[in-house]
Amino acid sequence: MNGKLIFQYATMNAGKTAKLLTEAYNLMAIGKNVTLIKPSIDTRNETIESRNGFKSDCLVLNEKQNVSDILPFSDYKDKYILVDECQFLSKEQIFDLRKISLKGATVECFGLKNTFKMELFESSAFLLAIADEIVENSSYCHCGEKATMILKTDSDSNPIYNGDIIDCGAEDKYTSVCFKHYTNETNDTQLSDIFRNLG
Ligand SMILES: [Zn+2]
Repeated sequence: MNGKLIFQYATMNAGKTAKLLTEAYNLMAIGKNVTLIKPSIDTRNETIESRNGFKSDCLVLNEKQNVSDILPFSDYKDKYILVDECQFLSKEQIFDLRKISLKGATVECFGLKNTFKMELFESSAFLLAIADEIVENSSYCHCGEKATMILKTDSDSNPIYNGDIIDCGAEDKYTSVCFKHYTNETNDTQLSDIFRNLG
């Protein structure tokens, strides 16, 4: 029987790591074989930890490896593989997960859909294209609307719309907001400037 490839996407601070760890716990409670994975870009320690204090051991995937290279088993039937921060994986690594799921494993990828520049992460775009199931994990803007965007700000709280997509260890500069607050409630001309300056 085929497994499934599931993409669980969210904005920042939507509790996706807590959800991953809860799912792992629930699967293990009914005797399932669960492997947790995170990319080494996050940090090198071999644990996945959520903001609310959940914690579990995991395997760490570097950018030159595929998940199939580091799993301690080759029979994928009825295995569960949960990947955190999947926006940092390459398309090749995602395709490897797709192949693993065809061999019987259920693979769940948890990660961000959007960069802070109004575009999709490459891996997330690929997952949206090839996943069997897509699950949205909602969070809220400070105004109470659903947050759909990731806003990057400098130390004076000014919005930043360009620069490198990946800026590790600087998580406090990112917040989840609605589109209106992503654009800082600017006027039409300023909005067009933001769009022109993306990239
Ligand atoms: Zn808002």
